[in-house]
Amino acid sequence: MREFRQAGFSAAFPHLRADQYQLRTLEQTQVRKPHSPNPLIQACSLTRRYPNGVAALEEVSLEVAANEFVAITGPSGCGKSTLLHLLGGLDSPDSGELTVGGLPLHSAGDKELTHFRRHVVGIVFQFFHLLPTMTALENVMLPRLLHGEPPREVRPHAASMLELVGLADRAGHFPHQLSGGQMQRTAIARALVHSPALLLADEPTGNLDSASATQVLELLRKIASEGRTTLVVVTHSAEVAAMAPRRIRMQDGRVADEST
Ligand code: ADP
Repeated sequence: MREFRQAGFSAAFPHLRADQYQLRTLEQTQVRKPHSPNPLIQACSLTRRYPNGVAALEEVSLEVAANEFVAITGPSGCGKSTLLHLLGGLDSPDSGELTVGGLPLHSAGDKELTHFRRHVVGIVFQFFHLLPTMTALENVMLPRLLHGEPPREVRPHAASMLELVGLADRAGHFPHQLSGGQMQRTAIARALVHSPALLLADEPTGNLDSASATQVLELLRKIASEGRTTLVVVTHSAEVAAMAPRRIRMQDGRVADEST
């Protein structure tokens, strides 16, 4: 059981590690002059090539303002997930500059990246990655418990996040007792439990039936409209993209165009 739990932890929380650092301020960074007065994300000429020679990203530049809701769209294989992984500090560009929340990720050390993953970003995946042996509430509490916070302090906030996603009455349910949409809403509550400045969602409705997908989309739209966090959603679904006020379309590893 312990081995299973350890494997589950790393699958569910690839962005969680153990150390701490101080965020650098935007003023300390050398990334190009922002178009937006308050950019949370500044990416300049990002390139990512995999060892097999595949150029997943080529010269990608973009800015996202704090509290924006942006959809990144494009066909399968165009580099959306690769870009999301860079934005989440899960992977590094081969060249280019990427600053998120004031931290230049392209030159950040391990401690800075660890702090970034733990405190600045929350990630929602297509396949939920909930731990099956924990209740919905425990799953939502877990990231902050892993940070060493006491359960009595974490529990009320985790409960309020479950309430936010409309699952207050499912707090004691295990994942197998939840529908797909409820599991994804629990995963969204978990991603928000540490109040991240940036919420990334990778095909969040890709594994849901259309009714559940609509509920999850409505929830994401509500989270964005309340200004709780900056929201970047990767999707190949036109319906999902249509929910976002700004859409960036990728093609063959490049930004093809964008619309608002
Ligand atoms: P999308 O999310 O738009 O489907 P990805 O970012 O997953 O696209 O992939 C972009 C390209 O990089 C694809 O050609 C894909 O096959 C390739 N790719 C993705 N991950 C890896 C990897 N770990 N190793 C090698 N190639 C990869």
